[in-house]
Amino acid sequence: MRVLTIVGARPQFVKASVVSRQLAECGIDELVLHTGQHFDENMSDIFFGQLKIPRPTIQLEIRGRSHAQMTGQMLADIEAEIVEKKPELVLVYGDTNSTLAGALAAAKLHVPVAHVEAGLRSFNMAMPEEINRILTDQISQQLFCPTQTAIDNLHDEGFNKKKVDMFLVGDVMYDASLYFAEMACPPDGVMVTSPFILATAHRAENTEDATRLGNIVAALNHVHQSIAPIIMPIHPRTRNAIAEFGLAPVFEIIEPVGYLEMIWLQQQASLIMTDSGGVQKEAFFFNTSCLTLRDETEWTELVSIGANQLVGADTQLIISAAEAKIAQPAPENTSIYGSGDASVKIAEALKSL
Ligand code: UDP
Repeated sequence: MRVLTIVGARPQFVKASVVSRQLAECGIDELVLHTGQHFDENMSDIFFGQLKIPRPTIQLEIRGRSHAQMTGQMLADIEAEIVEKKPELVLVYGDTNSTLAGALAAAKLHVPVAHVEAGLRSFNMAMPEEINRILTDQISQQLFCPTQTAIDNLHDEGFNKKKVDMFLVGDVMYDASLYFAEMACPPDGVMVTSPFILATAHRAENTEDATRLGNIVAALNHVHQSIAPIIMPIHPRTRNAIAEFGLAPVFEIIEPVGYLEMIWLQQQASLIMTDSGGVQKEAFFFNTSCLTLRDETEWTELVSIGANQLVGADTQLIISAAEAKIAQPAPENTSIYGSGDASVKIAEALKSL
């Protein structure tokens, strides 16, 4: 079995790290294609080194353009690679432009597609990720779902009437958090005092909207000065948006950190504020309460059990929720994201094809 894995963005490197290891264990021949969507050393290379992901055999350089230009160029370039390398299956992760381009290129060539993190829905079609995940699911044959909610979403969309395989495997990010937890290490050159709050923000709905980002920065400034110091490893898109909108954050902004440093920060933080999908769950894996700077989430289970609160970009709500949640640990991990063997189940399912 020869699998072509398509990655391109930071969360996909984390997800692929655990699955690639299991593919190798199962004797599956894996080629990795990196689209180049994320390319900075601290948004890409560091993950391949730290997480021991197989180095990409195919490196594209597709970056920093409009969604259509980026996805279109990826589609053409990935198609050429599939024609040349002749994989028996294309494996895609999550919901980025690289996910959709990889799935579409494969489907048009009648190469089966396996989608890890299938079935997630925010029901907000303004999100580029929602478009990518809905379309990718539609053209995948193997749908690896992280949660029962994801399975239910696919059922609601009629997938049980299609000739596809749906698996409830758990969340590969949970596997990663268990595997790497003991290797967590503090970021170099960052003074971390306790208690502190870890914040991240990069979703287009926040970074492309001056009012929303302004409200979030105002809330974080207030929280930093009156509740606990905030550290924000900043996404390049957010750094640009802060400069463009003339915002003045007073909390500590640091460069994006590697995964091992990021999970250390999540383990040590007294509270996490984020609009990241992955970080919402990692907060829970490390028993840290989370406030989500969005109006909805795909990870609804965490809101239901009180581990996560949606605070949107509402300055007052962010401040009052931070006051209420600081140093309140999240509930203990239950089995909602599986048993930490999602990657094993995925590799075994692919092996048995
Ligand atoms: N992450 C990281 N360094 C950072 C910020 C995030 O290693 O400076 C990790 C984080 O722990 C998680 C993944 O990147 O595993 C999440 O990626 P991101 O927030 O970019 O994307 P999303 O999950 O929202 O798709």
